[in-house]
Amino acid sequence: MIKDEIVSILKSVLGNGKEFIPLHEPVFNGNEWNYVKECLDTTFVSSVGKFVDRFEKDLAEFTGAKHAVAVVNGTAALQIALKLAGVEENDEVFIPSLTFIATANSVSYLKAHPHFIENEEKTLGVSPTSLREYLNSIAEVRSGQCFNKKTGNRISAIVPMHTFGHPVAMDELLAVANDFHFKVVEDAAESLGSYYFGKHTGTLGLLGTLSFNGNKTITTGGGGAILTNNKELAILAKHITTTAKIPHPWEYTHDVIGYNYRLPNLNAALGCAQLEKLPELLESKRKLFHLYENAFSTMAEVKIQKEPNGCKSNYWLQTLVLKPSLVGERDNILSATNSAGIMTRPAWTLLHKLKPYSHCSKMNLPVSESLEMRLINIPSSSNLIHA
Ligand SMILES: *Cc1c(COP(=O)(O)O)cnc(C)c1O
Repeated sequence: MIKDEIVSILKSVLGNGKEFIPLHEPVFNGNEWNYVKECLDTTFVSSVGKFVDRFEKDLAEFTGAKHAVAVVNGTAALQIALKLAGVEENDEVFIPSLTFIATANSVSYLKAHPHFIENEEKTLGVSPTSLREYLNSIAEVRSGQCFNKKTGNRISAIVPMHTFGHPVAMDELLAVANDFHFKVVEDAAESLGSYYFGKHTGTLGLLGTLSFNGNKTITTGGGGAILTNNKELAILAKHITTTAKIPHPWEYTHDVIGYNYRLPNLNAALGCAQLEKLPELLESKRKLFHLYENAFSTMAEVKIQKEPNGCKSNYWLQTLVLKPSLVGERDNILSATNSAGIMTRPAWTLLHKLKPYSHCSKMNLPVSESLEMRLINIPSSSNLIHA
């Protein structure tokens, strides 16, 4: 049986001893205690403190982005990045159907509409080829802006999401966005430490966003960041995520309706310690991938998703891809692995099938629909093996 074979291969990599192996666990084996203690000792736990500034500087340095702005979570980061990219009420924003719901929600918070587009097998991200073909039939460029001929709405942006850490085909996608005049905001929530031809994900579009939720590659408890190479946008991002207060020693003056989306110093302290360990953690995740790749090489019906050519993936969540003939087996495999104490999970339910998004525009999505039934995430924590 396929499912039994998969359980035994997973056990051969992960060991037989443990009672339960979670999908992804954070690891705190660096300066986390020291930095958090320093916040408590100095009373700087909240909206100001040196760790916020340091975390932003360290993030910019690690990713190669000119600017990083720390915020309260990845969803808020995406909402503000889209707003700064010029997304307005009633606009349409292209997003993959195969993504976490936060991608769509951030569009909705701006009263804009998600427009679902197709994924591709190679990267698990959006397909620039299908998108171009689709745009040739539904889009019209007028005075430098893109419109949906069917709905009459402006299409102002696209959000490529780097699924499980695997980079989207960005060169091709940027070319489509350039030809059809909409902005690119990368949802790099899952891809801290992933590179597209040497460039860190989240730094290729106008803006990019990261998440430091507890299940992500590194965590601040809850947190996120906006990346950009554009200085004006970075200044604006900081301004509107910190209540749009004009800096002044005692006066409270605010020039627009801002947001209280800042990351507390306590969380940033955790982030600084986690970032110090990131290179080591990425190495462990890559090693784990090679162990899985090797172990599954004996099975023709299943492959493990590998980083696309020219890219470096952070291998945030390791992913089994079932052959199309095995779609009917997915739930049996999920059930057998979870019963054996090995946590596994299917990919998200496609967003266009969910009640709040079922009315949205979409292209034909045969690949997304097939992938939905064939992807299984398997244990991926960096502490499963040692670098
Ligand atoms: C985690 C995640 C987010 C949002 O992150 P939060 O910090 O939990 O708000 C956004 N998009 C994707 C694809 C994610 O995986």
